[in-house]
Amino acid sequence: MSVKDRLQEIQGLIEDACARANRESKDINIVAVTKYVSIDRASEALNAGIVHIGENRLEEGLNKWKAIGDKAVWHFIGNLQSRKVKDMIDKFDYIHSLDRKSLAKEINKRAPVNKKMKCFVQVNVSGEESKSGVEPEEVIPFIKDMANYPAIEVVGLMTMAPFIEAEEVRPYFRRLRELKEEVESLQLSHAPCKELSMGMSNDFVVAIEEGATFVRIGSSLVGKEK
Ligand SMILES: *Cc1c(COP(=O)(O)O)cnc(C)c1O
Repeated sequence: MSVKDRLQEIQGLIEDACARANRESKDINIVAVTKYVSIDRASEALNAGIVHIGENRLEEGLNKWKAIGDKAVWHFIGNLQSRKVKDMIDKFDYIHSLDRKSLAKEINKRAPVNKKMKCFVQVNVSGEESKSGVEPEEVIPFIKDMANYPAIEVVGLMTMAPFIEAEEVRPYFRRLRELKEEVESLQLSHAPCKELSMGMSNDFVVAIEEGATFVRIGSSLVGKEK
């Protein structure tokens, strides 16, 4: 199926989820996760109307960036090694995986002059040991500390839900939204924290019902080639 047809289907599901949750679909940003597909398929997504591209591996992300460049808004969604920050900081627009002080330090050190890097703080809401992310109870102190790194803007929170039935992930998404609201209410100038990056192919509908503003959709939108 073409990306265009899949996108139309996904947009229909987003409209329905928004109607149920009393939200407006214009507030939902679709990040097309292109890690499983070629540059051509990523370009097809852009031609179909996609604006945001997400990659979780730097090498692959940079390959696509070289071909596509500023025709897209770039999201780094994977685990980010500090030593690789310098290779990506001027190319990616968002980092979804800020999860430790050493990474914040490096982003702050490497960011181009006057660039505020838009970061989501990744939270381990499910408490699974295999998952990276700040523990929920550490989120507020962690974000307060980010004031020490002026090149970082905390735009929101991100989570990866456990891989279980969509309906069972609802409490984790809800917990992330509550945390986001808590941070937002602090009105920290370095951390407006208005966004929620949550929901993937299997659970984006539930994520939207629970407040997601960025959904990261790979296989069900662009398919899987590798
Ligand atoms: C791969 C990936 C996605 C997209 O996964 P799909 O299930 O294919 O939609 C979303 N977020 C992150 C962090 C990923 O690594």
